[in-house]
Amino acid sequence: MIDFSLTPKTLKAKKIAHEGAEYVKSISRYYDEFEHEELKEEEKKKINEEALKTMAVMAEPGPSDGGFLSMIVLGEERSAGDPMMAGAVSRAGLGNAAIMAVATPEQKARFGNLFCAMAITEPGFGSDTAAVSTTAKLDPETNEWILNGEKIFVTSGKRCEAVVVWATLDKSKGRAAIKSFVVEKFRKGMTLTKLEHKLGIRVSDTASIVFEDCRIPFDNILGSPNIKEAKGGQGGAMATFDATRPAVASMALGVARAALDFTKEKLEESGVTVPYDRGLHSLSAVQKEILDMEANLEAARLLVWQSASMLDKALRNSLESSMGKAKAGKAATHVCQRCAALLGPYGYSRDWLVEKWMRDVKINDIFEGTGQIQMLVVCRQILGFTRDQLK
Ligand SMILES: Cc1cc2nc3c(=O)[nH]c(=O)nc-3n(C[C@H](O)[C@H](O)[C@H](O)COP(=O)(O)OP(=O)(O)OC[C@H]3O[C@@H](n4cnc5c(N)ncnc54)[C@H](O)[C@@H]3O)c2cc1C
Repeated sequence: MIDFSLTPKTLKAKKIAHEGAEYVKSISRYYDEFEHEELKEEEKKKINEEALKTMAVMAEPGPSDGGFLSMIVLGEERSAGDPMMAGAVSRAGLGNAAIMAVATPEQKARFGNLFCAMAITEPGFGSDTAAVSTTAKLDPETNEWILNGEKIFVTSGKRCEAVVVWATLDKSKGRAAIKSFVVEKFRKGMTLTKLEHKLGIRVSDTASIVFEDCRIPFDNILGSPNIKEAKGGQGGAMATFDATRPAVASMALGVARAALDFTKEKLEESGVTVPYDRGLHSLSAVQKEILDMEANLEAARLLVWQSASMLDKALRNSLESSMGKAKAGKAATHVCQRCAALLGPYGYSRDWLVEKWMRDVKINDIFEGTGQIQMLVVCRQILGFTRDQLK
C-alpha cells in the first residue's frame, strides 16, 4: 500500500520551516529588486537558525520519513517563502549532489565540505548535454588536466567555492568521453566573466565562467578517466538529476502553493470562498478554477513524493522523477499565472508577491531539464526507445 502520511517528526519540522518561510517572504521582495546583493548577516543567521532547528527535530528519536521525502517536504515549505533564498545561504549546490552520486570516498572527504556549483551548459547547447565542447586534456608530464572552454548560466557560480565542470576528453568519442571535474575557485585560468540579470529567482546568482588552460590535479576527475566507463561521465551525472529533480519540482510546488493560498485569502476578503462540499454544477467559474488548481498541485505533489520515496528505498526513479518535474513545472507555472490573473490589476502589481512568484516559478520548467526534455525522458522509458530512436 502507498501511504504518504508524514510522521509527527516531519510534521513538526514542516511547521518550523513554514514559520521560517513567513520570515523569508518578508525580505524576499528586497532581493528581487536588488539583484546580486548579498543577504545581510542577521538575515542569513535567522534562515540558518530555522535549518538548524528543523535538523534537530529530524534527529529526535522516533519514527522518521525517508531522508529524501522529508527533504522535499521541507523544500516545498521553504520555497513558499522564496524558492532560492534557502539556496542563497546554504553551502550545498548541484555540484555537491554530483559529488555524492559519483565521487570516490577519498574525493568525498576532500571535496565534501566545499560548496559546489555545477557547470554543464555552454553557449552552444543546453538540453543536448552530449554537445559538451569544453575540453579536458591530460598533461602527462605534470599529471594535470588542462581545461578549456566556456560555461554559462552556472547557478551560484559566484558564491560557490568550487565548480563541477563537464568537459570532454575526446569530442569524437561522444557521451562516453564526457567527464566531470571538480575545479576549486579560483585556479589560474578560471575567470568569472558575467553575472546574469534574470526574470526571476533574482536572489540566486547565475554566472558565466571561462576556462583558459586551467590546470587541475589528475585526482579531481569524478569517476573513471577511462572513456569506456560511464561512471562519472554522463551516466553518473544523470544519476545526480534523478536525485535533484524531485527537489526542483518541490520548489515549484512551494511557489505555486504560496500564490494559491494568497489568492484564496484575497478572494475570501472579497466574499469568494471555496466550498469543498458542493457539486461542481453549483460552483462559480472562479471557485471551480481554484479547485482544479488545488487538484493539479496535489497530483503533482504525489508524483514528486513518490519519486523521492523511491530514492529513499534505493529504487531507480528516473521515470518518476521526470514525470514529477514535468507535471510540477507545468502545473505550478499555470497556477501562478492564473493567480496573477484572478487578482486583477493587483496581481500584476509589485505591491504583492504574486507577480514575483509568477516570474520565479518559470525556472522550474527550465533548469535541470526543461518540461519538454522531461517528457522526452518519460516517453523513451515508457516506449522503450533509446536516445537515438527518440530525439
Ligand atoms: C536561471 C538559470 C539557472 C541555470 N543554472 C544552471 C546550472 O547551474 N548549471 C548548468 O549547467 N545549467 C544551468 N542552466 C541552464 C539550463 O539547464 C538550460 O537553460 C536548460 O537545460 C535548457 O537549455 P537551453 O536553454 O539551451 O535550451 P535549448 O536546449 O536550446 O532548448 C530550447 C527549447 O527547445 C526545447 N527542446 C530542446 N530540445 C528538445 C527536444 N529534443 N524535444 C522537444 N523540445 C526540445 C526546450 O525544451 C526549450 O523549450 C540554468 C539556466 C537558467 C535560466
